[in-house]
Amino acid sequence: MNLPEAVALLHAARRVVVMTGAGVSAESGIPTFRDAQTGHWARFRPEDLASPEAYWRDPELVWDWYAGRYRDVTAARPNRGHELIAELEGRKLAEYGDGAFVLVTQNVDGLHLRAGSRPPLELHGNLTHGRCEACDHRQPLPGAAGFVPPPRCERCGSRMRPNVVWFGEMLPEDVLEDAQLAFEQAEVALVIGTSSQVYPAAALADVTLACGGTVIEINPDTTPLTRRASFSLRATAGEGLTVLMAPAD
Ligand code: NAD
Ligand code: ZN
Repeated sequence: MNLPEAVALLHAARRVVVMTGAGVSAESGIPTFRDAQTGHWARFRPEDLASPEAYWRDPELVWDWYAGRYRDVTAARPNRGHELIAELEGRKLAEYGDGAFVLVTQNVDGLHLRAGSRPPLELHGNLTHGRCEACDHRQPLPGAAGFVPPPRCERCGSRMRPNVVWFGEMLPEDVLEDAQLAFEQAEVALVIGTSSQVYPAAALADVTLACGGTVIEINPDTTPLTRRASFSLRATAGEGLTVLMAPAD
């Protein structure tokens, strides 16, 4: 498949699913996990902070890290990539109705919502909310400026953990099922800014391929998905979407 064919397919598709990873937020200044951590946190690998073992060992340390990321995310702004995804959603919904577009994200930063997308299927949760350790209730964290972790559950008063899926934990089953269905039904699946190495998210593109759909990847680097994808664009999220969403010839 060549670029004009990919543009035409995306333009005509009545069912589109978009999957995003940390790369989509890179241009908002939010580091991907593959980027080095800075300052005090440079001593830690994210894998050693984003795990249940790390949390049970030292909840204060893990909460401090998440509180810092929460502050960073709150201060960050959605970028051109987030905006174009929201625009694509708007176009598809207007043309083909409610089921025409599904956004699935591995990101936990909430930037898609702030860019105007409908609430995405968040495979890995979000760091803007806490989740009660006792009763599983979820609630938004207080404003980032004065936030002192850990938050307490408004229902039962117990300590809350970050509302994210950690390494070694299961993905929320209902969210994963909805995502799987979207990839099954998609005529075009756009996979943007993910290293396609974290499973089961990385396997979803194969569902679309197996069902006869088209998979288009946007990433400045090659990934394990590149060779399997129908078409792969070496570009940042903003650049790649600009090219793909240009009017078809
Ligand atoms: P990753 O860090 O494994 O990979 C990021 C990918 O983005 C890389 O393939 C890289 O080449 C690409 N990339 C870099 N700059 C880009 C740009 N400007 N435009 C498009 N692509 C670009 O991220 P992942 O695949 O999402 O998986 C890592 C895990 O880390 C996920 O589970 C996610 O939940 C978590 N995470 C989330 C955030 C966030 O919410 N913003 C940030 C870091 C990590
Ligand atoms: Zn509770």
